[in-house]
Amino acid sequence: MKVAVFSAKSYDRQFLDAANAAQGHPHLLTYYDVLLRPKTAALVEGHDAICAFVNDDLGAQTLERLAELGVRLVTLRCTGFNNVDLATAARLGITVTRVSVYSPYSVAEHTVGLMLMLNRKLHRAYNRVRDDNFSLEGLMGFDLHGCTVGIIGTGKIGQIVAQILHGFGCHLYGYDPYPSQAFREIGTYTTLETLLAASEIITLHCPLLPENEHLINATTIAQMKRGVMLINTSRGKLVDTKAVIEGIKSGQIGYLGIDVYEEEDSLFFQDLSDTVIQDDTFQLLQSFPNVVITAHQAFFTRNALTDIARTTIENLTCFEQGLPLANEVKQASP
Ligand code: NAD
Repeated sequence: MKVAVFSAKSYDRQFLDAANAAQGHPHLLTYYDVLLRPKTAALVEGHDAICAFVNDDLGAQTLERLAELGVRLVTLRCTGFNNVDLATAARLGITVTRVSVYSPYSVAEHTVGLMLMLNRKLHRAYNRVRDDNFSLEGLMGFDLHGCTVGIIGTGKIGQIVAQILHGFGCHLYGYDPYPSQAFREIGTYTTLETLLAASEIITLHCPLLPENEHLINATTIAQMKRGVMLINTSRGKLVDTKAVIEGIKSGQIGYLGIDVYEEEDSLFFQDLSDTVIQDDTFQLLQSFPNVVITAHQAFFTRNALTDIARTTIENLTCFEQGLPLANEVKQASP
């Protein structure tokens, strides 16, 4: 198939080309290092499919344009599909596939990395030592052993986070509308309210859905323990950033670690070091000493990129050959 790959970085080319070659070069891939938007959709002319990533816009307007240009398949090289208007895709006869499984260790390990960094203030310690400042003042942490951690969403990633933290000796609370036996063996399911009130660390691993946008807001923050550590490596819009800033300023939130941000599409995956960032909320967040931000890199291991590329090429091949689509995404029936 002829495929237009959007938001394409050097590493996307490297891993997708390798996976395409390993499967006998079945597809012609054209790479565009721009976000897919209604304005950039014209680039797909002459292609049968597009390959998109987390911040590409697959809303109704873009999909209409893709359909006009003859696109029949949207294949996402990520797990989340919150950026796709599935109802419009179905109406236009565009099939949507994703990478439903890839190394969950990548995101889980990064999540625990953020917890350790914030707790032991490694971001500050690193800079101090480089500046020949060997004082420990202000660097005190706490033992993770014995800590209560609340995991919101105990699917593939949440489950691995739970296993790692179980190894540290943490007590685990889980909240998930679809509980799993694997989590029950090491943790306890509870209500969201109890999880919020009882946890010293809260970490988000649920998908972004219309019903849980701003799951973390002024009301839920007020229900948390004072000085809580909040980690979000899932999707930015799960968190009301302005409410979190108020929580940090009042001391209700003691630590914040995020790999995702609600307005990340104008910032992440680009080098903006020579520009003036216009997003004041983001800049304010950056100014706090107890906040660590990474730019949507939790997935970024060579194991994950290998899995993602292989599945993406397989999704394209299955679609082209009319084979069953194990990774098709459809709108849930009402
Ligand atoms: P998964 O589908 O295996 O697990 C998600 C779990 O969340 C499921 O068990 C589901 O029942 C549960 N859930 C759904 N709605 C919920 C709610 N309102 N409250 C609590 N739980 C809820 O998905 P996964 O592979 O574990 O990925 C989780 C999320 O991680 C993805 O949706 C994606 O947004 C994010 N992600 C981020 C990165 C990154 O690089 N930062 C990479 C991959 C995935």
